Amino acid sequence: MRLRNVPGSREAIAESSMTVNEPEKRKGKWKEVFGNDNPIRIEIGMGKGNFIIKLAQDNPTVNYIGIEKYSSVLVRALEKCAEEELPNLKFIRMEAEYICDVFAENEVDRIYLNFSDPWPKDRHAKRRLTSKQFFERYDVILKKNGIVEFKTDNDLLFQFSLEQIPEAGWQIENYTWDLHHDTAMFKGNVMTEYEAKFSAMGNPIHKLIAKR
Ligand code: SAH
Repeated sequence: MRLRNVPGSREAIAESSMTVNEPEKRKGKWKEVFGNDNPIRIEIGMGKGNFIIKLAQDNPTVNYIGIEKYSSVLVRALEKCAEEELPNLKFIRMEAEYICDVFAENEVDRIYLNFSDPWPKDRHAKRRLTSKQFFERYDVILKKNGIVEFKTDNDLLFQFSLEQIPEAGWQIENYTWDLHHDTAMFKGNVMTEYEAKFSAMGNPIHKLIAKR
């Protein structure tokens, strides 16, 4: 993601009713934030938010939380929501490493990872959102029958994930190296910004679903 400082983005996030500031204070209480018992699904590294906004529009009985570390990116998602009230969607600006400070055990129903940063150097492997270290965190916050869905066009990151996830004690329920030509897995697919961009360039999109 090319980053540009967007003047006023921190202030816009602090003032928006769609963002949750000090999210650690909501740990174990996210149902109260939404005011209902609907399942909670999160996207980590949501970027400008196309994917999670579309899911929230299409599935009003599911609650969604988009997580993004940069305010200059998150503010773009806020702009997209300016016209439309979506009571089942919230955003958090945070670094995903601290996810266990924000969600209690079993509080999350599903985790989406889309086009996560590849961190190509070996010594940065633990920063990849599909590393063992991250799956240990997902193991805490995700319901026992919950799933993690991951999409990328990055071959090395996908191969790493296919190996790493079983090492973390999880199973790969299903995967494809070419999502857009896999009729079964493509059904109901919601495109992300990166997915639209990279598939238009001819890159095949890879997807896996992980469970315990
Ligand atoms: N999911 C979007 C954006 C992909 S780019 C899409 O598919 O179009 C990856 C995004 O994840 C970037 O916006 C980046 O800032 C964010 N990100 C990467 N690592 C993160 C982390 N550890 N915590 C929070 N956000 C992260």
